[in-house]
Amino acid sequence: MELIKGAPVSAKIKEEVGAMLEKINGPAPKLAIVRVGENPDDMSYERGAVKKMGAFGLRSQCYTFPADITDEDFKKKFTAINADTDVSGILLLRPLPKQICEKDIEAMIDPKKDLDGISPVNIAKVFSGDPTGFAPCTPEAVIEVLKAYNIPMEGKRAVIVGRSMVVGRPLSMLLLKENATVTICHTRTKALPGTCQQAEILVAAAGKAKMLDASYVGENTTVIDVGINVDENGKLCGDVAADTLEEKSGKLTPVPGGVGAVTTAVLAKHLVQAALRK
Ligand code: NDP
Repeated sequence: MELIKGAPVSAKIKEEVGAMLEKINGPAPKLAIVRVGENPDDMSYERGAVKKMGAFGLRSQCYTFPADITDEDFKKKFTAINADTDVSGILLLRPLPKQICEKDIEAMIDPKKDLDGISPVNIAKVFSGDPTGFAPCTPEAVIEVLKAYNIPMEGKRAVIVGRSMVVGRPLSMLLLKENATVTICHTRTKALPGTCQQAEILVAAAGKAKMLDASYVGENTTVIDVGINVDENGKLCGDVAADTLEEKSGKLTPVPGGVGAVTTAVLAKHLVQAALRK
């Protein structure tokens, strides 16, 4: 398998962001990163996002709240961030603690600042193919990787393992927009390895460490590994058992160093787009 890395894709998006930034007068757009509690995964994503915004010449500010903040208090704080004219875009780290009604926040977030596509307005736009909204960053990062490496999507059989609202479902719509023929798999899918083997583009987004081994992958397949997991030795790994694919022809995104690096670049792109649309 040829490894196709995220860094060159991120660098290409950085150039696009730079060109868009030239059209903005005044201070660089600001991202508000909203975190409740101290989940280590959220904190790691937050650090990555802050670093990426800095590297792309953008501003960011972290708004952190205690894990036991009440629903009412959080909504007050969130309303203020949402209304702040200095904030061009918002990244809300989820899931939120149980006492906060996440659905209410999804409905509250200003769709024009909703960089990770959680608002019902943006979800509807993704599902209707309307480009004026924001898709969630990870599925869009998958499309960016495929485009950057000139992997044709039109007419290709794309199989996605995972149907979450964060990755699988919106990605199915983005691939459909590119005229791929899309199959979505999940825990009730029968004969999963055989279905995956038919894929010309295979996207692993199950959240199961090294689940997809060589028996799931055909020849000449482009495999996009969205998974971020920790293996039995405490090392970061994807949903694909990469070491079992060495003899296969085709392409594979590594973990780490694949889609994850592109996700925050897409976030940066969305931030500048949000500022330009203001
Ligand atoms: P979820 O847990 O919300 O969804 C997982 C999906 O995979 C579900 O639809 C589930 O099916 C399906 N699934 C789980 N196990 C199997 C199985 N054995 N066979 C078939 N289908 C299975 O995860 P997310 O979508 O939020 O995330 C998926 C992965 O992507 C995670 O590893 C996450 O860390 C990573 N991620 C990476 C990002 C990045 O930037 N690179 C960003 C976001 C997530 P069912 O619906 O039937 O339960």
